[in-house]
Amino acid sequence: MIDKKVVRVRLSWWQKTYYPEVARGLWITASHFFVNFARHWMRHVFRMKSVTPGAVTIQYPEEKRPVSPRWRGRHRLMLRPDGSPRCVACMMCESACPDECIYITPAETPDGRVEKYPAVFDIDLLRCCFCGLCVEACPEDAIRMDSFDLDLASYARKDFYLDREFLLRNSELTTHAQYDGELEGRPVSRLNLLKDTHPTTPSG
Ligand code: SF4
Ligand code: SF4
Repeated sequence: MIDKKVVRVRLSWWQKTYYPEVARGLWITASHFFVNFARHWMRHVFRMKSVTPGAVTIQYPEEKRPVSPRWRGRHRLMLRPDGSPRCVACMMCESACPDECIYITPAETPDGRVEKYPAVFDIDLLRCCFCGLCVEACPEDAIRMDSFDLDLASYARKDFYLDREFLLRNSELTTHAQYDGELEGRPVSRLNLLKDTHPTTPSG
């Protein structure tokens, strides 16, 4: 056991009034205001473009700040060209999820082109920590977090329980280079995809 002595700092009577700290806070706020004011003035009035831009205020929610393409937000499920879900209900995302907030019920596909599809695909967004592991784990590029939906707010908890239909709504075809053929509207079988990705895979 480490025997550590805690030294208590004794405040002087002047420090106990808190005036020095209040004055210091006002000074910091005022200095930011005048520095930004000067930067805006120099850039916009004197056209000095080499000056560092001043801070701007974004009028949220009327204005929204642009976010990085790598930004992770609400999930969406991707579609195939025929409108069916790209998800093959392999459960990889559900297994990888550290918060156990993905709930999938697989079912057999009627046409036999793929083995399974998600009859149920729910995400409890209130448990999600937006780690992105589900996206990383997916072998089909079927789930993404690029909805850029910034307004994740509601008065009811049930609104954060997203079902398959919600996750598929407004989804687009994937733009992943692996699926270029699909974007041109050509039917691409899973075997063709494997052949494109791994040239040595037998085609029969
Ligand atoms: S982002 Fe992370 S916590 Fe959220 S559903 Fe995906 S794996 Fe789970
Ligand atoms: S979203 Fe991807 S990882 Fe999750 S079950 Fe569907 S295919 Fe598998």
